[in-house]
Formats: sequence, structure tokens, C-alpha cells
Amino acid sequence: MALRNIITVGDPILRKVSRKVEKFDDRLGQLLNDMAETMYKAPGVGLAAVQVGILRRVVTIDVGDGLMELVNPEIIKTEGEQECVEGCLSIPGESGVLHRPESVTVKAQNRRGDWIMFKAHGFKASCVCHELDHLEGILYTDKMIRRATQKDLEK
Ligand code: ZN
Repeated sequence: MALRNIITVGDPILRKVSRKVEKFDDRLGQLLNDMAETMYKAPGVGLAAVQVGILRRVVTIDVGDGLMELVNPEIIKTEGEQECVEGCLSIPGESGVLHRPESVTVKAQNRRGDWIMFKAHGFKASCVCHELDHLEGILYTDKMIRRATQKDLEK
């Protein structure tokens, strides 16, 4: 495993659309291992491959209930709405308030290429949406209503 450098805002790669993963090989496994290590070290709750300079549809998430490795993820259903306070490892030291679905149903492949499906609520749903936006070159600041205040951060 190896730590990878996290690319920060201003680098045009963060605005590019990531490509589908076609090969479920050792390189993908290595990328996922490195992404998890980089995410935990940061520390962060989610990381998209584009944030380490790889334009592939690969995401790692851990909101405290275990590591999820999502390859070629897609949101197939959304329900409700919530107000979220988000930050991003690629936009250090900032956070903002935005709206996201309250729950999402997601279809994705694992590192072996098997399809999985799950539903996420609340904070986890917002993380999934945030990371999947990265795959389209979208940053949370594009959807931000306002910067987060100290009061928002204490919620
Ligand atoms: Zn982010």
C-alpha cells in the first residue's frame, strides 16, 4: 500500500469526467488499497480516484461503519431532501451548506467486478452523492447555498 497525493482545487483534472473501469485486475486492487490508505490518513470519509489523479470511476467511503469500495457506481433512486454541511479533501479548510437527497439507492461493482446494491441514508447518502459528483467533475461548491458558519459545523 502507498499513500497518494491528493489533488487540490485549481487543478483542471478535478473538472474532468472519469471513465468506466473495464478491467478488474491487480492494478485496480492496488488503486483501491492506496485510496483507502490515503483517505484514512487525510483523514476523510470519502475519496474519488480523480482526487489522486486517476480518471476512473472508483470511490472509497467510510463514514465509520466500514470501508466501502465502489467501482462504476450509479445512483438508481433518490428520496427526500436534507441540508448537508460538507467539506472536501481537495478543498482544504473550507466547508459549505447544500441540499442533497435524504436517501439514495446505489448500484456498483466491487473490486472483483461483482455487482452490489445498497441504500444509504443521511450523512452516508450525502457522502455517496459527493463522491459520485467527483466522477462527473462536479465539486460540492458548485451546489453550495452558502459557506458553513461555526454554528453549522457544531451541528
Ligand atoms: Zn470531495
